[in-house]
Amino acid sequence: MIKLSKCRVFVDIELCKGCGICIAMCPRKALVMSSDIGPRGFHYPILNGECIGCHICEFYCPDFAIKSVCGD
Ligand code: SF4
Ligand code: SF4
Repeated sequence: MIKLSKCRVFVDIELCKGCGICIAMCPRKALVMSSDIGPRGFHYPILNGECIGCHICEFYCPDFAIKSVCGD
């Protein structure tokens, strides 16, 4: 049986500037902006859908502030 790994994203809120590029580029529309504000004074992305671990958000983040990880 094939077991599908769960994928998550981790956002470094010390680095995120809330530009929203990752949200715009996610092919699954799995990211939304948080209502909370990080230490830099910006909203930051949170997962609100199914992440497939494609890493596109990582590739496009200009500040290396988001990573996706799959597995238990
Ligand atoms: S890894 Fe891919 S699917 Fe997951 S949040 Fe980033 S862009 Fe979206
Ligand atoms: S692209 Fe990077 S800096 Fe911009 S909102 Fe996403 S995680 Fe934050």
